[in-house]
Amino acid sequence: MEKEILKNLEQVFTRIKKACYNSKRDPKEIKVLLATKTISAERIGIALHAGLTLIAENKVQELKEKHPLLVHIPHTNHFIGHLQSNKIKDLLKYDVSCLQSMDRLDLAQKLQKRLEYENKTMDVLIQVNTSGEQSKFGIAPSQAIELVTHLSKLDRLKVKGLMTIGLFTTDKEKVRLCFQRLRHLQQQLMNSNIPDIEMKELSMGMSGDLEIAIEEGATILRIGTAVFGKRALPDSYYWNETTA
Ligand SMILES: *Cc1c(COP(=O)(O)O)cnc(C)c1O
Repeated sequence: MEKEILKNLEQVFTRIKKACYNSKRDPKEIKVLLATKTISAERIGIALHAGLTLIAENKVQELKEKHPLLVHIPHTNHFIGHLQSNKIKDLLKYDVSCLQSMDRLDLAQKLQKRLEYENKTMDVLIQVNTSGEQSKFGIAPSQAIELVTHLSKLDRLKVKGLMTIGLFTTDKEKVRLCFQRLRHLQQQLMNSNIPDIEMKELSMGMSGDLEIAIEEGATILRIGTAVFGKRALPDSYYWNETTA
């Protein structure tokens, strides 16, 4: 099990290096986040011991179960799943430094309130639905500027950039269009001079499309399968749910 994870990690970093070389980017600009849904703490621990430092869950319940088992290994937690506002309080118990799935104002307002109460701040990425698929969470690109403008006034939330899930298709050019939309939106947001926000991070690219994401400017890749192997549960369990 350990050998396989180490071998997979090596392959992922080889792919990243190659894609960076092809697009004349510095691999140091790119962070690898491990998407750890359904993966045991033991297996996550192997990757952390191998030098990875950034992990993310999709469900607060899984974070709650694994966090105590991993807390002794230095790492950073992000959150990449759809977040119900009644789970905010729980989420804040587990050292999550960045919520990558911010996609609506009411969630932002409730998070701001709770962070005020606990005297904390949190980084957020705006999750954008760049594929137009009904089944995916994220704000429509046309509404993103308005949302970010509102968020910029919530002082406990530190907007750092954008996140998206590309279209699921073997048609690479369609995937590329999703990533290009995200990058275009980043440019628009930069040009709108909204105060008190940063737009540096583009979290896009997963196991199947990391090369395209790198070519289109990704700064955070979210990798699950390519490191841990195929998951037991279908992704629809995480992506189409109405309750978390
Ligand atoms: C599961 C997941 C990933 C990783 O997907 P893989 O194809 O296994 O690499 C990335 N982002 C999100 C939001 C996920 O839920």
